[in-house]
Amino acid sequence: MTINALPLRDDHRLLCPNCGDEHTWVNKVDVSSSSGSGLRVIASGEDDASIVKAQPLRATANGRRYEVVLYIGCEMCEQESSLALIQHKGETEVVRSWDDEA
Ligand SMILES: [Zn+2]
Repeated sequence: MTINALPLRDDHRLLCPNCGDEHTWVNKVDVSSSSGSGLRVIASGEDDASIVKAQPLRATANGRRYEVVLYIGCEMCEQESSLALIQHKGETEVVRSWDDEA
């Protein structure tokens, strides 16, 4: 079974899962463990003013190992969507915050 995990334009540009606009960005990533330790990495700014910050994250992964969450922002609708990769018993579950309709 194949599920289209990401809404993509024909040239593989990421589209907003909420409104379908192509002006998206991924600038926040959370990595957490099943024991409750984690890290949030946030990138901001543009060009010479861009920076990346990391901060401790107190979140418990849903699986037995680790969980990686990518956050997708949209300039058009300002909705933040997420795509989580949850590792559990040697498998990786993909969990999206949106439905297939976008
Ligand atoms: Zn949008």
